[in-house]
Amino acid sequence: CGIFAYLNYNATRERRHIVELLFNGLRRLEHRGYDSAGISIDADPCRAPVTVSSGAVLPSPPPLVFRQEGKIENLLDLELSFTSHAGIAHTRWATHGEPSPINSHPQTSGEGNEFLVVHNGIITNYMELKETLLKYGFHFESDTDTEVSPKLAKFVHDILNEDLGSDGGDKQVVPFTQIVMDVMRQLEGAYALICKSPYYPNELVACKRGSPLLLGVKETGDMRTDINVESDLSAEGHHGKPTEYYLASDANAIMEHTRRVLVIEDNEVVHMNDGAVHIFKFDSDKSRRLLRPASVQR
Ligand code: GLU
Repeated sequence: CGIFAYLNYNATRERRHIVELLFNGLRRLEHRGYDSAGISIDADPCRAPVTVSSGAVLPSPPPLVFRQEGKIENLLDLELSFTSHAGIAHTRWATHGEPSPINSHPQTSGEGNEFLVVHNGIITNYMELKETLLKYGFHFESDTDTEVSPKLAKFVHDILNEDLGSDGGDKQVVPFTQIVMDVMRQLEGAYALICKSPYYPNELVACKRGSPLLLGVKETGDMRTDINVESDLSAEGHHGKPTEYYLASDANAIMEHTRRVLVIEDNEVVHMNDGAVHIFKFDSDKSRRLLRPASVQR
């Protein structure tokens, strides 16, 4: 029932102790109710690239995922101590699938955690999407409605890369936002999603329709502090400036860090990467029409 994310950027590439930061965010979302909690953070970026069984080479190691049923504190029992640039976190109020570690978020695309999603809301057409993805050989491990979204992301990613002749390795050419918009095209219901992927190690993409989502920007140097939301492509980049970004379901979780908070509107897609945040307007006509298997067509 609450999502939270953090991403920092600075010129020295200094990583931050991120687990406590994510926990603080989750605690501030506790009042929204929860039955389980989970987080995902980048693994040590110095580790060698990983090849998963499908043959795909992940340019950075699979993000680590920790999920527990019950109190947020149960996660702390893991005594996690990591430094990282980016992390996503979730407190769950189950709508589909009982509270359990496997049904907790982040939900994943499968082996290698190629795509990870935390979700607040309900995806009403998940059964239909699940049936299609099963036909394409995806295996589902949870009973959640959410799991279709990371799997759709992987599906779209693989198709787009195949089209572009990329092996999905070093030469990553498909923008992360494109993948998320193609996923949005398929989803019905209410959602705020935050997506993470080892193909895009210093990026987070979030989108929303019907569930709340806020963006916080904290600049830690002498710099511009305005974010301009314009029509299609919007927001002020912060290239080269030490900046921290937050995403949350509730302003509570951001206000302790920064008062510069932007309410994300329905059908907006937030892209955070090294030193910049951009907000795109989702436009179904501009999204590519790649994922149109017969049974998904409407
Ligand atoms: N519908 C999703 C689930 O049951 C997300 C619920 C929530 O917003 O916490 O896993």
